[in-house]
Amino acid sequence: MALRENQPLSEVGEFELVEAIVDNFPQGEHVLVGPGDDAALVRAPKGHVVVTTDLLVEGRHFRRDWASARDVGHRAAAQNLSDVNAMGGRTHTLTLGLTLPGDLELGWPLEFARGFAEECAKVGASVVGGDVTRGDAIVVAVTAIGTCSVAPVLRSGATPGDVVALCGRQGWAAGGLTVLKRGFRSPRVLVEAYRRPEPPYDAGLQAAEAGASAMMDVSDGLVADARHIAAESRVAIDLRTADLEIPEPLEAVGSALGVEPMDFVLTGGEDHPLLATFPDAASVPEGWRVVGSVGEGSGVTVDGEEFAGAGGWVHF
Ligand SMILES: [Mg+2]
Repeated sequence: MALRENQPLSEVGEFELVEAIVDNFPQGEHVLVGPGDDAALVRAPKGHVVVTTDLLVEGRHFRRDWASARDVGHRAAAQNLSDVNAMGGRTHTLTLGLTLPGDLELGWPLEFARGFAEECAKVGASVVGGDVTRGDAIVVAVTAIGTCSVAPVLRSGATPGDVVALCGRQGWAAGGLTVLKRGFRSPRVLVEAYRRPEPPYDAGLQAAEAGASAMMDVSDGLVADARHIAAESRVAIDLRTADLEIPEPLEAVGSALGVEPMDFVLTGGEDHPLLATFPDAASVPEGWRVVGSVGEGSGVTVDGEEFAGAGGWVHF
């Protein structure tokens, strides 16, 4: 029987659903055994693997009326690819778990799979397996596996005297989410940034090769995530607002909604730019912006002052 995208999943068999999803995932040449056996078999390119996992829960991390299935697919892949990127690595393999309500139409997981595949294609990664099960809300569980061609960059390597640098958009997704929460759909560029983040997938390796001492991706907020580097490295970090860019659409949203646009930049999450420390300004690669400095002590300050705001996304 041919499947229709408006068919409720309760009428679609598990194997038919899995087959329809897997159809979207081309297998790279490093995949020795792809979907279909008890486990996949993947050639390991180096003497280590980089592994990360992430959950997205409907209602908590996305809303179906704010983002299409394809957008959620992009985002679910992007946040995992970004975590490997933040080690200075590149993802080659992913697995995908989906909990789906029975009354959900088949089109949702298929569109999700298309978005997921499109995002994975940006780094040449293959989706080699996963699982589906029925549940009350949509839950997406992603595991990404990658490798670093140079020494992985941890959060713990920053030392006093280093400079702090940022690569990629920051604050855009928070601007988009704020707009959506107020019932608006524009500026479109910010809403799109929230729906489909664009992590700088080449910048992780670039930073590692340039000698980055510490690195992470900004998923919870610039100040909040800088605190992680400060804590893990046992140093103090000062961010300078004069060096943080406020893009024009954030200025516009700020003045329209009466919000200080720098707050989006300092506390916004989900854009997945990279935040790294380098031994000096001369070693900061092209495309990165120096936004602060590392000193003795602990914690994060903004322009030398204690930061008063919440700092970022709180998970619990
Ligand atoms: Mg991360």
